[in-house]
Amino acid sequence: MSERRYSDQGMTRGRLIIVGSPSGAGKTTLCHRLLAEFQDSVGFSVSYTTRKPRPGEIDGKDYHFIDQPTFEAMVAKGDFAEWAHVHGNNYGTGRAWVQNMLSQGRDVLFDIDFQGGRQLKAQYGSDAIMIFILPPGLDVLEQRLRRRQSESEEAIELRLHNSLRELEHYLFYDYLIVNAGLEQAYDELRAVYLATRYAVLRRAPLVEALIREAKARR
Ligand code: 5GP
Repeated sequence: MSERRYSDQGMTRGRLIIVGSPSGAGKTTLCHRLLAEFQDSVGFSVSYTTRKPRPGEIDGKDYHFIDQPTFEAMVAKGDFAEWAHVHGNNYGTGRAWVQNMLSQGRDVLFDIDFQGGRQLKAQYGSDAIMIFILPPGLDVLEQRLRRRQSESEEAIELRLHNSLRELEHYLFYDYLIVNAGLEQAYDELRAVYLATRYAVLRRAPLVEALIREAKARR
């Protein structure tokens, strides 16, 4: 049987793949790779933020960059599936786009913090799979943050401080991947993602179809 015949698309609702980590753990690179490999089945939830764009960031691709009054208006209208204050700025997940993707049977990847993950898990239960990316050590975390060179010293210190908070919430997650090297970490992320695609509840329509066919033959 071809993989296409067993494709999940259009059969059941999609899953939420929520990837969290302290900043500097290499989460964004890992997410980009997953999206590139599984572009037919996974879409990225582009968050809204009041943070200013970093050099090279594209509005509508990396984030929807909006101002504070617009953010507040969206909160008031219930446009966010979750939102949180992170590193001194507001970030939120647009509800409508995510709902639309899930109802088409497509998965949605989220690069959000534990506060957002917790809110989505509360709404979506076992449809939300939470994956935590851990840096191999604190020195590596700091080096990666400094290498970015797009943040002020104050912003880097705030991110390092918040890393501890993020680490302390690891038990909100279902899976833990240590990013000591990109290849190994990506293989692990890929394995976790693939496992979610083969969860029995998600594949129920395939079995149900066979049962119906078997009954019809009797
Ligand atoms: P950055 O400013 O480095 O792009 O992101 C800072 C932090 O905010 C990261 O941990 C990122 O995962 C988180 N974040 C990005 N978008 C959202 C969102 O929509 N909701 C929540 N709760 N966190 C977000």
